Amino acid sequence: MSAPRDRRPPADEPLGSITRPVVDDSATAPACYACGARDLTRLRLALPDGRPAVFASCPDCEATAWFVVDGDGTALGPDGAPRR
Ligand SMILES: [Zn+2]
Repeated sequence: MSAPRDRRPPADEPLGSITRPVVDDSATAPACYACGARDLTRLRLALPDGRPAVFASCPDCEATAWFVVDGDGTALGPDGAPRR
């Protein structure tokens, strides 16, 4: 019978780091396209074509949009077309 494997994380793993964003995407998704709010919920994901993107959700008006990372800041709809 083998001893249980120790799967604890390394001791130097900083606790609480998961509560901080890995990257600051406020430049990629600066504001809500609908109401202009700047306190957005931002998630970094990939578009179906492989481009890295930020999905932003507005807590004020519940608008959602995609922003291409390193793009021009245009808010995109679910199909990748610019929001109007
Ligand atoms: Zn909004």
